[in-house]
Amino acid sequence: MKLSNYFLPVLKETPADAEIVSHKYMLRAGMISQSSSGIYSWLPLGLKVLKKIENIVREEQDAAGVNEILMPTIQPADIWKESGRYDDYGKEMLRINDRQGREMLYGPTNEEQVTDIFRRAVKSYKELPSHLYHIQWKFRDELRPRFGVMRGREFLMKDAYSFDLDMDSSRTSYNKFFVCYLKTFERLGLKAIPMAADTGPIGGDMSHEFVIISETGESDIYYDKRILELMNVDKNLDYSSDLSEIVVSYQNLYAAADDKYSKDEFSKEVPKEFQSNTKGIEVGHIFNFSSKYSEPMKANVLNSNGKTVPVHMGSYGIGISRLVGAIIESSHDDNGIIWPDAVTPFAIGLINLKIKDPEAVSMCEQIYQTLNKAGIETLYDDKDDSPGAKFSRMDLIGLPKQIIFGKNSVIDKTIEIKDRKTGQTEIINISETISKINNN
Ligand code: ATP
Ligand code: MG
Repeated sequence: MKLSNYFLPVLKETPADAEIVSHKYMLRAGMISQSSSGIYSWLPLGLKVLKKIENIVREEQDAAGVNEILMPTIQPADIWKESGRYDDYGKEMLRINDRQGREMLYGPTNEEQVTDIFRRAVKSYKELPSHLYHIQWKFRDELRPRFGVMRGREFLMKDAYSFDLDMDSSRTSYNKFFVCYLKTFERLGLKAIPMAADTGPIGGDMSHEFVIISETGESDIYYDKRILELMNVDKNLDYSSDLSEIVVSYQNLYAAADDKYSKDEFSKEVPKEFQSNTKGIEVGHIFNFSSKYSEPMKANVLNSNGKTVPVHMGSYGIGISRLVGAIIESSHDDNGIIWPDAVTPFAIGLINLKIKDPEAVSMCEQIYQTLNKAGIETLYDDKDDSPGAKFSRMDLIGLPKQIIFGKNSVIDKTIEIKDRKTGQTEIINISETISKINNN
């Protein structure tokens, strides 16, 4: 992509209403544009990152054998009345009437909708277990939308749902999502700690929030530092194998957010030198709620004895749009964003400092074409701006590698490669560009 043709409305000044670094940088780097409180348009650079995250999440759900579907954003109120949540949900739910006066709502989550799909389609234990997910916009009229996409009112979530015949099999499903989440967050370049979370009246130990450590997080977290050393899931994991050992290895080390934290347990279970208490950002949440929805909504199947029983369910969320902000919170410096390779909008930023020199322009064009042919996503800064403006813009948008075509490039046939994170530079021959980049 050529910058001269790219919609990238970069701001020089920090917007006054942005409190945290990810919100500031997302606005300054022209990733999002606010529509109204907690509601944003995604501009090209932001959308590209959002899609990369979405695709990694999708690939890992698919690898775990979860079926992708797409449920609507607008749901009928009837199913929420059946489950008993229509009144409980309160003001966070955006309620709508259609022209016939029917009550509808903009979905804040999809347990009811997916239970309705399931009960129409599945009647026998032979069809179980069944795992479905979708990636869809949600709306929650949050009391205090803030921090940009981190706590929005409209936000993109991946939500998955499991249906099982009994509690044992439900735990197997839970473990599968648990491990799939570890793998997903690792691929995104994040250390997301699974933390015991509140299960409410249902009880049990099957609710975990996945939280990344960050000063700007809204949760207080307490954990045994040794849990960070566990994080390294086999990339070719066989999901049909017994995953309970992995899950138990995490559960054996203390990690809890504020709602589940107990001072006594923490000090008893964790030796002083391993105790850590910081702030964190919740990026995912998995939950088993047994027959909470299947019972009132009559999502029943026949078991092997011909008896009608309600299915056991779980739900599994990942905040995809929140992750864009969360990744920036965990990877930036004073000059701007530093994208992890897995989600960067472009791999390379090619900066032409000699835009008025036709020979330089033609050489840069050739480098750009060569990178494109090699499948290396490149943003080519072909704009007629000062070197200072070009450097600070490229640092701000955070592409992991910069190629600087400068004073000596035309004569020496060399370019400078800069690593955005370390700031280290290296001068190489233009002919070595591709091999150099592929080897890094
Ligand atoms: P929180 O405790 O942050 O309000 P939640 O517990 O209400 O979140 P869940 O219902 O568990 O959220 O939703 C699953 C995931 O969706 C969360 O882990 C989070 O990453 C994301 N999410 C929830 N609310 C928002 C929001 N208002 N803006 C952006 N992402 C959100
Ligand atoms: Mg939650």
